[in-house]
Amino acid sequence: MKKRTLGKTGLELSIIGYGGFHLIEVPRKEASNLLNTYLDRGGNYIETAAQYGDGISERKIGEAVSHRRDEFVLTTKTVDRTRQGALASLERSLKNLRTDRVDLFFMHEPQTVEEAKQILAPGGAMEAFEEAKKAGKARFAAISGHGRPAGIQYSIENHLYDVLMTGFNYFDRFNFPQAEEELLPLCLERGVGVLGMKALADGYLYRNVEPAIRYTLSLPIASLVLGMNRLDQLEQDLAIAENFTPMAEEEKEELYRSAPELGRYVCRQCKKCRGADGFAPYEVFLLEGLFDRQMSDYSVPDPQTYALQERLKHWFDQKDWARNEYGKLKQKGDPERDYSALNILCSYGIDVDRKLKIAHSKLAGDGYLF
Ligand code: SF4
Repeated sequence: MKKRTLGKTGLELSIIGYGGFHLIEVPRKEASNLLNTYLDRGGNYIETAAQYGDGISERKIGEAVSHRRDEFVLTTKTVDRTRQGALASLERSLKNLRTDRVDLFFMHEPQTVEEAKQILAPGGAMEAFEEAKKAGKARFAAISGHGRPAGIQYSIENHLYDVLMTGFNYFDRFNFPQAEEELLPLCLERGVGVLGMKALADGYLYRNVEPAIRYTLSLPIASLVLGMNRLDQLEQDLAIAENFTPMAEEEKEELYRSAPELGRYVCRQCKKCRGADGFAPYEVFLLEGLFDRQMSDYSVPDPQTYALQERLKHWFDQKDWARNEYGKLKQKGDPERDYSALNILCSYGIDVDRKLKIAHSKLAGDGYLF
């Protein structure tokens, strides 16, 4: 499999990494077959976390491939924010993984700046990493997170992390555009290695697997972590990686136009629908993205789509944050007003007037009924 360099760490990673979360769901023998097949086919990056199944994912990895430890780069994560908690978490992870060292140790999911600061404060989890590094138990400091990247952006701006991992896909790029537009360039500028995850938006893009993987692999990331819990899925993902060619800008634009998940509802943030009075509906839609990833459009989709939307729309638990920011937005529009004159400005066919009313009903919390 093709390899790319992970920033200043100098590690050469296969472009597809093995995400350990879904190992929770498969029996240990199948997990072993999957992991060993991945390594046999040239994969060399395996990641997991202490909290995945409370150690079950780590234990399956340890049992399956610890005898091949020198063949791959290994990562685990902690959600403990204190020195003591993170040290205990790492010790347990090493035991579960049957190894004496991890290559990357992730501080996982600081959503807010306050949480990010807690990690870096005296007595915080970063001290645990420094201690583990001196003892040869962890090599590089890494940070990971989902959804709007405020916490991880602060972390990259204020600490020399070696590696960042976050979600990149053609759907959430319109809900959390900062990840691609701000965070990724910042990492490249600082030599921070970048790992991608969630290329399928937690499974929501299941109808478009190849374009979704190609899209994310076309970004300047070192490796894309995929959760593969079936052999046919593993084979499919490896084949896409083996035949990978970068997506041209025109292909991306075509994907934004035609992808069924984006349809005539998800705002592509082209910023062309500004009103004569300066009102910018897309600022409201960005907060709708934070609220529920613009998944609910108050229509009744097919049962599969509905079930996925219900499972995933609040996956990052950022509803309150979105409502709070909506409260502070200067121009949020009036749901009783008719904005349909703006519809013609949207080349993606979005009914701006209808969408503004739906967004208001989600975000205002004032009892407005769409
Ligand atoms: S014109 Fe359409 S896609 Fe562009 S910002 Fe407005 S609603 Fe979004």
